[in-house]
Amino acid sequence: MVASKPESGILLIGLDIGGTQIKAACVNESGSVVDTRRLNTPASLIAFRQAVCGLLEELIASHANIRAVGIGCKGLINPHTSQVESLPGTLHYLEEQVLAQMLAPVLPTGTMIVADNDARVALAGEMFWGAACQCRNALMLTLGTGVGGAILSDGRILRGTTGAAGHMGHLTVDPEGTLCICGNRGCLETVFSARTIESQAFGAIHRGVDSRLLAHGSKVPTCAEVFDLARQGDAVASDIVRKATRVLGAAIAGLAFVLDPEKIILGGQISEAGDVLLEPLRAEITWRTRAFLRREIAVVRSQLIDPSGVIGAAALALEARSRTATA
Ligand SMILES: [Zn+2]
Repeated sequence: MVASKPESGILLIGLDIGGTQIKAACVNESGSVVDTRRLNTPASLIAFRQAVCGLLEELIASHANIRAVGIGCKGLINPHTSQVESLPGTLHYLEEQVLAQMLAPVLPTGTMIVADNDARVALAGEMFWGAACQCRNALMLTLGTGVGGAILSDGRILRGTTGAAGHMGHLTVDPEGTLCICGNRGCLETVFSARTIESQAFGAIHRGVDSRLLAHGSKVPTCAEVFDLARQGDAVASDIVRKATRVLGAAIAGLAFVLDPEKIILGGQISEAGDVLLEPLRAEITWRTRAFLRREIAVVRSQLIDPSGVIGAAALALEARSRTATA
């Protein structure tokens, strides 16, 4: 994309560090992308530093008004320091790296650099340009291979002592449940996540139950296919979806009592299932909370169209600037 000039107002860089690609965008204060770059994720730390610094230098050379850089990254990021604490997979070489320190040398003096995990990046995007505009209290859940979460409380994104706040996927929903990747047992994402729903479908196929899931032969249906079959009325797929959704709704209801949110925002690939997920989820949350809260909590899908995460990353920088301004 070619930058439109002359540019007025400040610009932010949103950077998304992914396992296969690194994407960057220059975003204005209205959330519009004015320039983008992308590259394949390098295989070593030295190559990563060189490639990402080069990418930032290109954007800075093309735009005069860049004031801050927001970075979204998978894994565990310490948002207070921008240090990558844990990042399994192709980007493991970033562990213990402080992203702000790595990138600062190529940025103009005084440029703010912040980094955080994908779910908080998604919430920041919704706060400025999506479903959480005008909200002071909201929960964001990203429903994908796991369950990510971020919390807006009294107008601020909660981060906690070590930056781990909001990991709703690891809320215990069954003390005797199955082991979770985090070391706990019975976490929400061991019951509701694409991985779990797919493994439930595989179990049904393996048991030879009478279901259209069997049409997939030895291939495990994807989570989206299970939701499709549930929508079409397949009893086994519907049962898998109903049980998982009930637990998700119960967990969100518990969070609603703790955090009293105005709305629940759902992102991630599973949220694309639409009403087959949203309607039973709303009903589950409502019956559990209405008598006490005496209101209905809105449950909505994320509004910001930001599949690459770069707009949310730019919003993260904006959120950091507003925090600094009000501190
Ligand atoms: Zn867990």
